[in-house]
Amino acid sequence: MSDVIKLLPDNIANQIAAGEVIQRPASVVKELVENAIDAGSTRIDINIKDAGRTLIQVVDNGKGMSAADATLCFERHATSKVRTADDLFALSTKGFRGEALASIAAIAHVEMRTKEKDASTGSSVTIEGSSIQNQEEIVCPTGTSFSVKNLFYNVPARRNFLKKDSTEFRHIQDEFDRICLAHPDIEFSLTHNENEIYKLPSEILRKRIAQLLGKKSNELLVPIQEETDIVKVTGFVVKPEASRKTRGDQYFFVNNRYFKSPYFNHAISKAFDGLIQSKSYPGYFIYLEVDPAKIDVNVHPTKTEIKFEEDKFIYAILYSSVKQALGKYNIVPTLDFEAETSFEVPAHIRKQPPVEPQIHVNPDYNPFEEFKKESLGSSRSHGVKSTRSTAISAAGFGSSGSSQEWQDFYNIEDEKAQENETIFEHSETLPENYLLNGSHILFNSEKGLKIVNWRRAIERIVYDDISQKFVSQPLSSQKLLFPYDVEASRKECALWMENTSILKQMGFEGSVDGEKIILEAIPAVLQEESINGAMESVLESLNNDQLEKGDLAHYILSSISSAAGLCQHNLSTKDAVHELLNQLQHCEDSNFTPRNKKISSYLSLRSIQDLFI
Ligand code: ADP
Ligand code: MG
Repeated sequence: MSDVIKLLPDNIANQIAAGEVIQRPASVVKELVENAIDAGSTRIDINIKDAGRTLIQVVDNGKGMSAADATLCFERHATSKVRTADDLFALSTKGFRGEALASIAAIAHVEMRTKEKDASTGSSVTIEGSSIQNQEEIVCPTGTSFSVKNLFYNVPARRNFLKKDSTEFRHIQDEFDRICLAHPDIEFSLTHNENEIYKLPSEILRKRIAQLLGKKSNELLVPIQEETDIVKVTGFVVKPEASRKTRGDQYFFVNNRYFKSPYFNHAISKAFDGLIQSKSYPGYFIYLEVDPAKIDVNVHPTKTEIKFEEDKFIYAILYSSVKQALGKYNIVPTLDFEAETSFEVPAHIRKQPPVEPQIHVNPDYNPFEEFKKESLGSSRSHGVKSTRSTAISAAGFGSSGSSQEWQDFYNIEDEKAQENETIFEHSETLPENYLLNGSHILFNSEKGLKIVNWRRAIERIVYDDISQKFVSQPLSSQKLLFPYDVEASRKECALWMENTSILKQMGFEGSVDGEKIILEAIPAVLQEESINGAMESVLESLNNDQLEKGDLAHYILSSISSAAGLCQHNLSTKDAVHELLNQLQHCEDSNFTPRNKKISSYLSLRSIQDLFI
């Protein structure tokens, strides 16, 4: 048999390697920016065209490269960061494999310009499909600039596999967020199709988080701080009330490198146990500092998984430091007892000063007269009271044991049985339902006391109504008298612009100006005081990139209905309450809201009795 094994030509080997390292435009951004950081840059500008299909440009002011390095850097396994095997165990740089530039050059047209600080001239290198097209001496500023054009031009399968521009750009933004959060001291900018999306000056961490996630995030951050021999933990967790329905804001960094860890995530979620709803995710920005010899970043080519030698210990430290921080900022009790109500009460009511209850005094009231009438009465309910008074007065407290005392004991037992009946006897004469604390309707039912959360009932009724209408026509919208500004992060603003068509069909109209959305029209079912709540929930839905278009519509519709539930409603008349309950009964699912929250519940007679044991 003849020999069949041949070494792959370099350009093919590089293309194969590229398959692993460069999955999409965002991977190029990540690799180039990480190189710029490793080169000690203090300012990095990123310029993208068509979500990276046409151009990815990264310009830094780092240490630059010599003329020889300017071509060598494109060779596979060409790196200045690892010299010996031992270096692998003490990595302080982002890159170390020497694969990224070789991979990028294999699957795109690349132009690079670079100059070292003390050199008078720099070099320009053009490379396409791993072969150098041109190299020359040029005059350029200190630092390095990469332009990557026509990504995957020679790998059609990859190029066709790319998602729509908005999705690919979102991946770029996600990488950008992670890098910016890992390096708040570096100045960054991100431009897409000539629009500057971010311009971030060098900042302290807290401000960097707020720059990226919107100003309002600043007041929601709770600092954490813990230092042991093995690990130093710093960063922030997001207050439980702002936790999201999506995994959005969960960031772990170790030695300023972003990583994912379901195991450590579990520690944080456990610390939040009982403080957030089961379907919400806590937000966090957690920074670990660990001896580089005790972690292995070599597990995955894109390096978002990291192995920790002392992971169990770190788990315990994370759990306790988050728990402690939540306790220290007094978050635990507020949430346990107030979360639900403070959420349910609409802002306009919460802001009103409390009204003192009025006390009416009847000057003619004579308690003894009443008692006389009662003890003479013949009905069973009145009889209960007289039995009790007789029992107590006849036996007296602490009087010496007598047969009378035992008899009284049984009398009291009897009383209990009679009380049961009394409730029902009374109920016939009471109004049919009650509005409890403005938020719940109570009424008798076969199963016991039925409690309906009427805001949730409205949420279900509105959802059924608008989702039915939405199938055939856009939802009716109301123009606002004055435009209404809603603060949002740049990313949220971009998502808003991207989805204007579906939002318009839902009744929302508005433009974007910097870090705010200026609303001009809202769905007709909403009132102005519910705009913030609705918008928060709509933006959260837009942020969830796991949602298909159909799901997104459902999420936005349920955001609208939930906000409609929090609007002002007049339920002061019996008819209004009846009408509401009647509409609820005709809903597709009268037991749960579109977001799967219970609308009504029962207190069985048994559990009510248990309250009085
Ligand atoms: P790695 O980062 O794993 O070393 P890369 O292929 O990403 O491998 O880069 C190869 C080498 O090119 C780096 O080790 C570094 O010496 C040099 N290099 C790449 N980008 C820059 C840059 N922006 N500034 C200075 N040197 C760079
Ligand atoms: Mg690199």
